[in-house]
Amino acid sequence: MNFQYWEPQIEKMPRSELEALQLQKLRQEIGYALATPFYRERLGTVGIKNPDDIKTLADLRRIPFTTKNDLRDGFPYGFLSIPKEEVVRLHASSGTTGTPTTIYFSSDDLKRWTNNMARCIFGTGCTKHDVFQNMISYGLFTGGLGLHQGGEAVGMLVIPSGSGNTARQFKLMQDFGTTVVHATPSFLLHVEAKMREVGVKRESLVIKRAFAGAEPYSEDTRRRIESLLNIDVYNSYGLSEMNGPSVAFECQCKNGMHIWEDAYIAEIIDPETLEPVKEGEIGELVLTILCREATPVLRYRSRDLTGFYTEPCPCGRTHRRLRRITGRSDDMLIINGVNVFPSQIEEVIMGMKEVGNNYLIVVEKEGALDRLTVKTEVGPDIFTDDSRPLNALKERIRETLQVSISISPRVELHESGSLPVSEGKAVRVQDKRPKDV
Ligand code: AMP
Ligand code: ZN
Repeated sequence: MNFQYWEPQIEKMPRSELEALQLQKLRQEIGYALATPFYRERLGTVGIKNPDDIKTLADLRRIPFTTKNDLRDGFPYGFLSIPKEEVVRLHASSGTTGTPTTIYFSSDDLKRWTNNMARCIFGTGCTKHDVFQNMISYGLFTGGLGLHQGGEAVGMLVIPSGSGNTARQFKLMQDFGTTVVHATPSFLLHVEAKMREVGVKRESLVIKRAFAGAEPYSEDTRRRIESLLNIDVYNSYGLSEMNGPSVAFECQCKNGMHIWEDAYIAEIIDPETLEPVKEGEIGELVLTILCREATPVLRYRSRDLTGFYTEPCPCGRTHRRLRRITGRSDDMLIINGVNVFPSQIEEVIMGMKEVGNNYLIVVEKEGALDRLTVKTEVGPDIFTDDSRPLNALKERIRETLQVSISISPRVELHESGSLPVSEGKAVRVQDKRPKDV
């Protein structure tokens, strides 16, 4: 295979040099962190008062973990380390109510993010001859602009088509000769099903590659998309707290995602004991960003379960590879790429006085896409011959949920006592999607 590297000197850097670079960047990042109210206090509690207090990479483990709740508590500017006038962009995590987790970028931060993204894209074999259709949400979600900037940096012609509207996606692909797409794996399967439904011929398209991420999927799903569409699919992993996409990406070997270790320090911990697992074992990924000055985040508990491949990659990159994300150590659901916590749904429906105590959240596949149904109990008075009040309440619940979780669910109202009474949280959620990871 003919491998191509965006920054060969960094991508193939010997491990000892890479670790020295990490230490240098970690110290710098600690400097940014000490400029934030949150970390000044947090680092102070463990005796870190200036960057030189970090002597080796092992000193990182003195620092307490940072959680999503910390980021929320620090809203809006608790994690900002530069003057506001130096900030040029913000992004926020999907699927959070009330206080989102907000990340700020300086102009240099955006350049570094774009560069990391270009590394990922170029590493899959893309060049400036490619036409890249970015079929994922733009906006506060990092997936849209992240890949967009990286694609432009590589010199591809980027079509910012955004997600949804398959008919228009096909037209764009045909009109402009799209060779590469980016989407969630479920959307790619949906696109393929639609192609057959509306009679778009594979021969009318010149697509050869797809980047798929934002939600978990299995090796079987990858193979299915690859054979149905006759393309190569590359796994893309990221989270908004760590810039979004470009944290880890597959190279042409398509066998695990290289995590850019000059930009992140990755640890895998046991989510129960919080101790590191043995190299190669599965645990929760904890990340420290080394490439962002405006919003430093140290030892962030991603809640994503994964592990490292221990053997080196044939491509020659020295940055370690992450396995596919096999699950989460919390109850977050990912529905068509959007993060949803059951507690957000609970908050909305329990805030409505007409609604009883029992509810059930059901997630299932409808075709290739995910479908969310929220079932709740209501008092007997509403079940009369006149269906209007019932429909109005359903619609109100649906609309309120949509505002809160950015997804429009199907709502079902049931008579009191008809839904199973559940004590544990898990029973309130039925995730019926096939688990083939
Ligand atoms: P967000 O902060 O909204 O970008 O969501 C980030 C979360 O999406 C991650 O923490 C993962 O749980 C999930 N995610 C992103 N990319 C992937 C991927 N390639 N495979 C599995 N899960 C992913
Ligand atoms: Zn590789």
